[in-house]
Amino acid sequence: MNGNLTFTMIKPTAFKNNSAGAILKMINEAGFVIKAMKLTRLTPELAGEFYAVHKARPFYGELVEFMSSGPIIAALLEKENAVEDYRTLIGATNPENAADGTIRKLYATNLQQNAVHGSDSDDNANIEADFFFSKMERF
Ligand code: ADP
Ligand code: MG
Repeated sequence: MNGNLTFTMIKPTAFKNNSAGAILKMINEAGFVIKAMKLTRLTPELAGEFYAVHKARPFYGELVEFMSSGPIIAALLEKENAVEDYRTLIGATNPENAADGTIRKLYATNLQQNAVHGSDSDDNANIEADFFFSKMERF
């Protein structure tokens, strides 16, 4: 059975561009409920840990640098079939391939600075939520 939680980040460029409000509006209008949220900034060490699965990829170093370059909004979202439905809402990793009307199509700058993160599985949604939020920060 698919779970009802997913984790997202509004990445540094989208936050800097003042797209956070529009992105959060799309998230709410698509039926996701915000269960936890914070404005924070990753250190390079924490960004490296978050993206450790991509350590061997050629883009890892620049991704870590980018993700620690400024504030991000981290959020835990609830909806039936959350992981899959959120991946549909955000669109393809490369915004050039993202469907019309998706968050990445509308708010990404490029492949690296693609506006938002979205969990790829229920297990990772829980791991990523635990990375950012304590019990006291969840509602
Ligand atoms: P997604 O975020 O859609 O799950 P991945 O997990 O494959 O995509 O990649 C994590 C992040 O790394 C992407 O969202 C993007 O910011 C960056 N990224 C992925 N592929 C590339 C690439 N070829 N060049 C530069 N950055 C990339
Ligand atoms: Mg991913």
